[in-house]
Amino acid sequence: MLVRHGTRRSHAVTYHLLRPRHNSTNATRAQNVRPLESILIANRGEIAIRVNKTAAQHGIRTTTLYTDPDAAAQHAHSSPRSFNLGPTAAYLDQAKILRLAKDHACQAIHPGYGFLSENAEFARKCAEAGITFIGPPPNAIEDMGDKARSKEIMTAAGVLCVPGYHGSDQSPDKLADEAEKIGYPVLIKAVRGGGGKGMRIVQNANEFQDMLDSARSEARNSFGNDEVLVEKYITTPRHIEVQVFADKYGNSLALGERDCSIQRRHQKILEESPAPELDDSIRKDLWAKARAAAEAVNYEGAGTVEFIFDNDTGKFYFMEMNTRLQVEHPVTEMVTGLDLVHWQIMVAEGRRLPLTQDQVEEQIKSRGHAIEARIYAENPDKGFIPDSGKLSHVRLPATSEDIRIDTGFVEGDTVSSHYDPMIAKLIVRGESREDAVRKLAVALEEYEVAGPVTNIDFLKRCCVSKDFAEGRVETGYIPKHHDELFAKRVPTPEVLIEAAVASLIRASRDVTGEQALTSTRTNGFSWLAPQGSLQQRTFHFRADDDEPQPGTSPTIYEVQVQQLSVGRYYALCQGSAYEIASTYDADLKTYTTYFPHTRHTSRIIMTDSSEPGVPGTAQIHLFTPQGSFRLQSATPAWIAKALGTSEKANSLLSPMPCKILRVDVKPGDKVKKDQTLLVIESMKMETVIRSPGEGLVVKRIVHGQGEVVGSGVELVEFEEVE
Ligand code: ADP
Repeated sequence: MLVRHGTRRSHAVTYHLLRPRHNSTNATRAQNVRPLESILIANRGEIAIRVNKTAAQHGIRTTTLYTDPDAAAQHAHSSPRSFNLGPTAAYLDQAKILRLAKDHACQAIHPGYGFLSENAEFARKCAEAGITFIGPPPNAIEDMGDKARSKEIMTAAGVLCVPGYHGSDQSPDKLADEAEKIGYPVLIKAVRGGGGKGMRIVQNANEFQDMLDSARSEARNSFGNDEVLVEKYITTPRHIEVQVFADKYGNSLALGERDCSIQRRHQKILEESPAPELDDSIRKDLWAKARAAAEAVNYEGAGTVEFIFDNDTGKFYFMEMNTRLQVEHPVTEMVTGLDLVHWQIMVAEGRRLPLTQDQVEEQIKSRGHAIEARIYAENPDKGFIPDSGKLSHVRLPATSEDIRIDTGFVEGDTVSSHYDPMIAKLIVRGESREDAVRKLAVALEEYEVAGPVTNIDFLKRCCVSKDFAEGRVETGYIPKHHDELFAKRVPTPEVLIEAAVASLIRASRDVTGEQALTSTRTNGFSWLAPQGSLQQRTFHFRADDDEPQPGTSPTIYEVQVQQLSVGRYYALCQGSAYEIASTYDADLKTYTTYFPHTRHTSRIIMTDSSEPGVPGTAQIHLFTPQGSFRLQSATPAWIAKALGTSEKANSLLSPMPCKILRVDVKPGDKVKKDQTLLVIESMKMETVIRSPGEGLVVKRIVHGQGEVVGSGVELVEFEEVE
């Protein structure tokens, strides 16, 4: 019997809904149930915390693991016991993980996603060691883990696959021939691929060889296997996937679909359920095909069957099956009211699926719409390259039944460059899609992160983008809406003046200590009164994303401020003069400035120089009524550099901490604009560094192949441009 806890509204159904009945009946005994009392979580970050939460709710003892760089990570502190695996890559150390599970009497291992979650060999070793692997049987992982094999199985089961070549002849000529037959554009995919890695779009035959090489090299680095398949590239597709579940008794269910079309680098950033603007008959057909996929491989547990939906023809094709819980599973939890981790545990214990397909459909009908936004430390303006560093400030939107945040980080934690840069997942539910999108936009407005660059502002722009708001999504959404999504926002005079006042206060605090701030207090606020700063000061700022490039200069904003009396200032910015009053709330870190025309309250977070070798540069992160801004405050030396008058203007700097995989040029080479200079790798992702200008002559390769460098390090020096 289903028991609903909570309020009268159906979406208030909580995780208690499917609490196991511990007093085992004859029926459950007949299922050969083996209750799990102790689980080892072989993963990190938010998924480890999330699995831990469900296990704890059901009285299951958990053990977590961490590595040297993760010793202080939140997940390592989320369980009563936690063990150090050692080096960075040790989340993949099968022998060590199994030994720890045995030594500490863990009956089961939950692999989360990524790492060992789709490793058939590991699942097999668990079985041999008498440990339950919370996932599908090894054979199902093997069959579906190979993109080529899974397509054969699906074709045999009568499910349409994208036209392509999935054969074993991997010679470049054969592959190029097949690409020609399929017809360009084609997509090269690593057969063992995942997370968008090892995948390249090829527009014409000329590009084929280069793209094949780069897909193979990425695949080798990420998956230790460089086999590829070639398939038709569908030009206006949507990514629609179905969450499936199966038990050990041949029962399978489709728990609704998710649309994950908003992607960058073939990786999802917004996921939602139900898929917008989808005909109901197609939806039901997708569910049926997904169940057929699960049944074709005798699936058990949670899986996702991914389809590519061709917007031009209305046809959909099987793409692949992921044999694990997915990052975006909370979207399904929000629209079904189910706890999928609990279901995984139940299936692993040998229980039957507790609902029928009709019951699932009933449940979904009443629960509206859910969307997940993935919050990453990455820079959308620089091709979404990952960022890392200390989270100097984090402020979360208030959570509720309809607003959920899954994260493995709190303020003060460091996003490590060793692992995936996802900071959090923000999941919202609304009565309708419109309602959910609106709630997501508001929650993102309230989400503040200072430190590494994040995609939060980018996600906000996606939410208000007209086509997205109206449900017209496709995987090419981001490039197609480029101008709208990447529009530069210029800081307003109010923002610049607040940055200047905060800088003035900070400068005087550095000299005179904290007390200088608090000369008079009223109602908990401080009137800002830096001592000894009655003289006029001039500040220079530039937007953080407006970086000095060889040959161009960023916009420098100049602001003059002068303190008139306690808390009162005179400010000159962009030709206009303002008399303002400013207060500071130390608890909230907010500055409130009264301009003649408006009151402006902003949270201002200042961090020290992030530019190596440039002393005195402060980064100022302002969360204002006009949105969030990242400014760099400039010293005279910095301005010289920005204007290209210093020697460094002829250098190409590393955009992130990385390893240099390949250098394609040598001193004396004259390069074309966009010519490949070198290939770097960061967080297992390859990035090609191209020439920023035409006719530049390489003077020196500062760091060579195999070297590991930090962010902002000189990589290539060019001859002076005449
Ligand atoms: P991965 O396992 O690396 O995530 P997928 O096969 O799931 O790779 O594909 C990831 C994304 O790449 C899809 O969501 C879709 O956007 C795009 N994609 C995959 N196959 C095709 C195709 N044949 N045509 C167009 N886009 C595709």
